[in-house]
Amino acid sequence: MEQYLEIHPWKIIESGFSKEKQILSESIFSIGNGYMGQRANFEEKYSGESLQGNYVAGVYYPDKTVVGWWKIGYPEYFAKVLNSTNWIGIDIKVNGQELNLAECKVEDFVRTLDMKKGLLRREFVVEFDNGNRIRVESSRFISMTRAETAAISYSVKALNFSGIMEIRPYLDGDVINQDANYGEKFWDEAARSVGEHEGYLMLKTKKMDFHICTYMSCDLRKNNQRQYQEMELISREKYVANRYCISVGQDEELSIYKYIANTSSRYYPVEDLIKVCREISWKALDTGFDSLLAEHERAWTKIWEKSDIKIEGDLAAQQGIRFNIFQVNQTYTGKDERLNIGPKGFTGEKYGGSTYWDTEGYCLPFYLGTAEQSVAKNLLLYRYHHLEKAKENAKKLGFSGAAALYPMVTMNGEECHNEWEITFEEIHRNAVIAYAIYNYIKYTGDKLYLLNYGFEVLAAITRFWAERVNFSERKNKYVILGVTGPNEYENNVNNNWYTNRMAVWTLEYTLGVLEFLEREYPIEVIVLKEKLGISSVETQKWQDIIENMYYPLDEKLGIFLQQDNYLDKELLSIKDLDEEELPLNQNWSWDRILRSCFIKQADVLQGLYFLEDSYDLDTIRRNFNFYEPKTVHESSLSPSIHAVLAAKIGEYEKAYEMFLRTARLDLDNYNNDSEDGCHITSMAGSWLAVVHGFGGFRVKDDIPVFNPCLPAQWKSYSFKINFRGVLLSIAIGEEDIKIFNDSNKEITIGLYEQKYRVTGNSSVTYKK
Ligand code: BGC
Repeated sequence: MEQYLEIHPWKIIESGFSKEKQILSESIFSIGNGYMGQRANFEEKYSGESLQGNYVAGVYYPDKTVVGWWKIGYPEYFAKVLNSTNWIGIDIKVNGQELNLAECKVEDFVRTLDMKKGLLRREFVVEFDNGNRIRVESSRFISMTRAETAAISYSVKALNFSGIMEIRPYLDGDVINQDANYGEKFWDEAARSVGEHEGYLMLKTKKMDFHICTYMSCDLRKNNQRQYQEMELISREKYVANRYCISVGQDEELSIYKYIANTSSRYYPVEDLIKVCREISWKALDTGFDSLLAEHERAWTKIWEKSDIKIEGDLAAQQGIRFNIFQVNQTYTGKDERLNIGPKGFTGEKYGGSTYWDTEGYCLPFYLGTAEQSVAKNLLLYRYHHLEKAKENAKKLGFSGAAALYPMVTMNGEECHNEWEITFEEIHRNAVIAYAIYNYIKYTGDKLYLLNYGFEVLAAITRFWAERVNFSERKNKYVILGVTGPNEYENNVNNNWYTNRMAVWTLEYTLGVLEFLEREYPIEVIVLKEKLGISSVETQKWQDIIENMYYPLDEKLGIFLQQDNYLDKELLSIKDLDEEELPLNQNWSWDRILRSCFIKQADVLQGLYFLEDSYDLDTIRRNFNFYEPKTVHESSLSPSIHAVLAAKIGEYEKAYEMFLRTARLDLDNYNNDSEDGCHITSMAGSWLAVVHGFGGFRVKDDIPVFNPCLPAQWKSYSFKINFRGVLLSIAIGEEDIKIFNDSNKEITIGLYEQKYRVTGNSSVTYKK
């Protein structure tokens, strides 16, 4: 854990330049707009250690799989999001001396990420070997209003000399992915041109035929006067630049504004890409930096109006939760149902930018609560569109063509993951895709979704479970053998309680939905059942599995067992470990981890979180008290679920500890791995920790209900909920709880078991 960033309610601030922290800061200060994103690499040259990253959503490369021992069923490739053209680059020379923060003397370095405005800024002073000093200020943002636009303002002031300054804005497509399996470069050049104050590069992926065009339009100013003088035009393979050499006197300032457009063949025909890209870049140039920034800021204001969480009395928590909300919103805006949310978003290469169960388990509730309904719906449609691939995926493993196994990791519906204990065994991921449909329907009431899309997905997942179970004569029950639960620190176990329970839950839900459809859409459902070939023999089989599933449990302890043999392990708790042993995955052999009782992330508890309505508080408490002390939270997804459950059972201190751990996971580099990128999907979890945990927010019988508590560390807090077109603000203070209805529509809400009607633009107050 390292705390080197200043605490501030709206900003992330790094004061003082540190080469050691550079890669970590590049992750933390990342910016994006759902369409593209970028690590906080420097504009000027930097020869120190760095992880360069410019990503365009949905543009990936099927990198040939690397595997020690090939097993039938492994995917041929791992799709990875691509590091694409570096569009931030601006090289600077001052009287022939190169600006390179790894080599020069740097003073007064401050890097700020302003989350309210969505703006990344840096300022610093540099002294070169010859004593020349300059002051540099840079600002950049990726527009939240114009998906394909970004802008940079970069200025250099001569502090104690006069002479020649060289400014070279460029586009560089000669980039690599550090995670390339065979060290290959993934891009070929498709077109390139450079002109006065502008240039473009069009690159094409070596496989898949994705094209990205990147266009820069530059505006050079001296003391804020536009400069039209000659420049050198540089063009070589995958590189274009304008080189300006300008004489400056002491205290004079050169500024360059770089207006970037990035267009991809995912949205335009290849033959139009350059033209469209040029138009977007020129339009940005015409609009100008300040106006572009102003509209971008207004868009952020709107996002914050719907999603902000305010915490009084605890700045570290305030900063952490806003950082998380900010990063999730930068990653996915829900406008394109072909896109999804990689666990690292646009902040790093780890996990390849692909989709995991994290989306349904963690991100969906965040978007349900804070965005338009269409955003969550698009997340569901993403999986709906992959249904045929999920069936192919299951078929590859030996299932019938009607069963669907959604991939553990995917870009386009095909499985990319290639470790047997995960690819073949971590099948619980299938259940959460069904659960997401349930969650969406419960929240939105959009029951037509079930008829048009949802039931098909549910039926195919249910069929997978029905084929995956086997009947154990010995136990006289159905069992699920050879699985990995959410806890990846145990593999190939039998009867992981979570998996068995979620499988049966899926069967129950699917049958419930079928009943509903038969009642509400009797004609349409006949067609649907025929299309899917669902018979009563099949549904009876589902019912039989529901009634006869085996669940491992220990009656004496009163707990569900993570798997059949969990209690045979040496039952230690984290208190028995030395601090230096943590994190286990960086200190223990894998063999030792697998045999130990230590749990990577919520497993039984994940099930109790999803299915809380089926269990009483005592059951949840007993399981929590048993498993939590054995959980090392080495998946970032873990603490948030613990925070929600801890709040539910009244363990407020624990809930707070878990909340803070998730909310500041990256800012404090808690798991010592944020260099690889920020933990975007688990950031949605920290929102859950506040809203579902402390706020006790749930949807019950079609109304939003709240059971709030106030952590002792906070004076007050407030959050927003967007429920079926009504924006609610919930403010929890020491003396009262106020719920504002910020819309024109009347709504019924629940607060501590009591129902209230709140008319439009009014509020209710509950005195404690
Ligand atoms: C976790 C998985 C998760 C993945 C991506 C792993 O460390 O164990 O549950 O899906 O990270 O976040």
